[in-house]
Amino acid sequence: MSESPLFVVDGLHARPAADDDAAAPGEILKGLDLTVNAGEVHAIMGPNGCGKSTLASCLLASPEYEVTAGRIVFKGDDITDWPTDVRAKSGLFLGFQYPQEIAGVSVIQFLRQALSARKGIDLSVLELRLATMDWMKRLGMDSSFVDRYLNEGFSGGEKKRNEIMQMAILEPDMAILDETDSGLDIDALRIVAKGIREVRADRPEMGVVLITHYQRLLDELAPDHVHVMVDGRIVASGGMEIAEKLETSRSEEHTSELQSPCNLVCRLLLEKK
Ligand code: ADP
Ligand code: MG
Repeated sequence: MSESPLFVVDGLHARPAADDDAAAPGEILKGLDLTVNAGEVHAIMGPNGCGKSTLASCLLASPEYEVTAGRIVFKGDDITDWPTDVRAKSGLFLGFQYPQEIAGVSVIQFLRQALSARKGIDLSVLELRLATMDWMKRLGMDSSFVDRYLNEGFSGGEKKRNEIMQMAILEPDMAILDETDSGLDIDALRIVAKGIREVRADRPEMGVVLITHYQRLLDELAPDHVHVMVDGRIVASGGMEIAEKLETSRSEEHTSELQSPCNLVCRLLLEKK
């Protein structure tokens, strides 16, 4: 038997839960397929409204959406019906699952809880402090950062450092990062890219799915596979040449530096035909 892929999304269909409102949009994901092998970095891009955030929510097991067909398989297990915490415990890191602000919980306290939930390891704050020191250096963070209250007054870049720090400490087998709605500046994009590179340097077998509309993030990260999503499905897949095509179209159109608008994606698809 050949080795099975690390992470497979197989014909996923999903719609908003409790979809009894006649005005509701019905299915948003319409048969999405994605296969990630160990060690691969995949980027998913697509125009606004194509379902990127819905996909992220479904991978997170958000109760907001109902999977109506298809499955999600992680390390050979069908996890489609697994709740968020069980997914996390099995080694899936969902970078967007953390609340924006938690009053009174410091970065290090939260890390400690997350580590305990993920691995059943109860490190003392001191032990965890030692473990985080190396990472803080690698991520260019000040050592006082871990004593700050979670996300309270964090800049976009600090939120990203925090998320990447969690990924580093939790040692996932697979990381899913949703950058679609995060309003990242260039500094924050670099942190995400550097963080992923640093964590991969330690864990080369980790798979990564990066859902993004930031062309710039792909330039920084150079993913192995780039997928274009339109209307709830992956419609084109390739290497960085797909992103580079989008890049060329973008500069032709003098559009905003951080965007890859819908018309460019559509043009790309037409060119392929
Ligand atoms: P993207 O992140 O790619 O911009 P979304 O996944 O946010 O796209 O949304 C895809 C489409 O589904 C949009 O038309 C959006 O308005 C609609 N949609 C998403 N979530 C819901 C929901 N909970 N209820 C109703 N419509 C939704
Ligand atoms: Mg979105």
